[in-house]
Amino acid sequence: MEKVVIVGGGLAGARTAEALRRAEFSGELTLVGAEPYPPYDRPPLSKAVMMGDAEDTTLDVDLDALRCRPLLGRRASALRLAETGAGGAVTTTAGEVAFDGLVIATGATPVALPGAGEGAAAEAARIHFLRTIDDARALRAALRAGRRVAIVGAGWIGAEVATAAAKAGCRVTVVEAADVPLAATMGAEVGALAASWYAEAGVDLLLGRKVAAVEPGGLVLADGGWIDADDVLVCIGVRPETGWLAGSGLALDNGVVVDESLRAVTERGEPRPDVVAVGDCAAWWSARYGRRLRIEHWDTALNSPDVAAATLAGRPAIYDPVPYFWSEQFGRMVQYAGWHQGAERLVMRGDPGGRRWAVCWLTGDRLDAILTVDKPRDLVQARRIMAARGHIDPGLLADPEVPVRNAVPS
Ligand code: FAD
Repeated sequence: MEKVVIVGGGLAGARTAEALRRAEFSGELTLVGAEPYPPYDRPPLSKAVMMGDAEDTTLDVDLDALRCRPLLGRRASALRLAETGAGGAVTTTAGEVAFDGLVIATGATPVALPGAGEGAAAEAARIHFLRTIDDARALRAALRAGRRVAIVGAGWIGAEVATAAAKAGCRVTVVEAADVPLAATMGAEVGALAASWYAEAGVDLLLGRKVAAVEPGGLVLADGGWIDADDVLVCIGVRPETGWLAGSGLALDNGVVVDESLRAVTERGEPRPDVVAVGDCAAWWSARYGRRLRIEHWDTALNSPDVAAATLAGRPAIYDPVPYFWSEQFGRMVQYAGWHQGAERLVMRGDPGGRRWAVCWLTGDRLDAILTVDKPRDLVQARRIMAARGHIDPGLLADPEVPVRNAVPS
């Protein structure tokens, strides 16, 4: 392989450039990134940047030292795969870039709110999204004491921005269509445990309320209600950024369909050894969970690149992690590891009304997932047990005084 092109200049793209050089790829390396900035980290955008504690989140990746040609501020618009089954070209706003190895790392884009309008209408209603450093700076500038801020969506990012906005002295209302926060990812029972955090921080949380339209001055709710807002943040989820791959012959199904080695699969169901996908845009086959996963979290963007680089180098490698993410909200460190879909039951560790607790999802004596609140040790130990596919004594697990690792039957 002589020419590798990476499309997408986020964490996953940058880490793949590093991983390729570590895997002794010595050919030409080009990184095409739609944003005009060198690769930067996104988690601080809703935390330190939003709090005013950080301005710059540039990653410690030296593209020059990696002999990686950056084409920043350039967008890929199409992919042509060679008929021969190897190589092709990417159409970009900087012209065609030929490759014999391709890394797809185009991440994800926030979902727009139906009824929120676009262009000038959205600007007049002061609608924000939060994905880029520019978004973060614009939103941060709006968080001034006394401003009325409405946040649509009580998910991870909504909660983090609500934390920062309340701290800045804004009057914050979070509107959520589901009956509890975090419902989409954590389910109703666990999501309900986070509801009291909002009031504690002085944030109004409206549950089970849908937004019908965003207008200058506020939100129109589907039930006819109205919320005053000087600024509106829409954070109702993201979708994989794969539009540019339409018609390429690659299978797209909630992301770029890749096998367990992160090789992109064609519409005919054949994996391409010369095309890999990493990070938020990759929907990989997990043998561990017997299903396709697409995890929109930092750990995937950090760790999938090593496997992708090995795959492009023709070495056997499999990506099959226990998913992990964290969130910092309302003064709490919330961490999650595992995959709980289909789990049979929940086991609490500690009092969820207190400051430090955890909840575990189990199937029989198998630990499927854990969510911890200010209990990082529980998280680390549970993650190790899940990675080793170990079993657990549910009775011991329910005792918060027993370390999670000691709940493993000997
Ligand atoms: P991205 O970071 O989205 O990078 C993709 C890049 O590709 C972008 O720069 C994009 O402009 C570019 N691109 C897209 N299309 C094209 C194209 N056609 N041509 C060229 N370039 C293109 N995860 C956690 O685990 N914990 C957290 O606390 C956490 N906090 C977060 C807070 C915020 C505000 C956000 C936005 C995300 C957060 N995440 C968190 C998620 C984490 O940041 C992402 O999972 C990670 O950034 C994904 O990296 P990526 O490189 O796959 O995609």
